[in-house]
Amino acid sequence: MKIADMNWMQLESYLQQDDRVVVPLGSVEQHAYLSLAVDMILAEKVAVDAAEPLGIPVYPAIPFGVTPYFAAFPGTVSLRVETYVRVIHDLLDSLARSGFKRIVLVNGHGGNQPAASAATEWMLSNPGVKVRFYNWWNAPHTLANVRSVDPTSSHASWMENLPWTRLADAPCPDARKAPIDYQRFHVMNAAQAKEYLGDGNFGGWYQRPAEVENAMWQVAVEETRAILQGPWE
Ligand SMILES: [Zn+2]
Repeated sequence: MKIADMNWMQLESYLQQDDRVVVPLGSVEQHAYLSLAVDMILAEKVAVDAAEPLGIPVYPAIPFGVTPYFAAFPGTVSLRVETYVRVIHDLLDSLARSGFKRIVLVNGHGGNQPAASAATEWMLSNPGVKVRFYNWWNAPHTLANVRSVDPTSSHASWMENLPWTRLADAPCPDARKAPIDYQRFHVMNAAQAKEYLGDGNFGGWYQRPAEVENAMWQVAVEETRAILQGPWE
């Protein structure tokens, strides 16, 4: 259930019978032909779909993450690692104050990994609260499904091209892009990266049929749901 559809009194009664909560972590950055908000949209939707039958509240995604390598693409917003870690600390402090004791951060963006270390560090001084950092997109079953369709799938390819991330006025090519060279990409500055990446896709099919998309999404939702269920100790 979206926290946006609850008031504080409803949340207070929820907390009398459950103490789990989900916060999706996003990023606003180039995703080739797809929405700039792909990572935010997908993290929030997979979390909402996963939490629905369990009745667990889901916060709106934190839109911004750490994505310095896309800084030269218009529209990309990147928080400094230091800022991001402080945001995560303040978020966890606030959730703990509300009474949540089992918190899942459903992450949609690779650059947000510092949140995982921040959460582990935070738990050290908050031993009564558990925080799980979860990358929905590279969880084992989801990744296996993605790789079975196209082993070269990556950033801005078909696995992120879904009815809720694609743009009606910007159709994706019906093509398969050769994978980028990650060793080169990792040492490029922002301007070089923009030049090198072209449209921004990292490789793989730009699109796959709806039944392939749906099957992938189903696996991702179920795998995320299992994480909300536990284990918690
Ligand atoms: Zn993405």
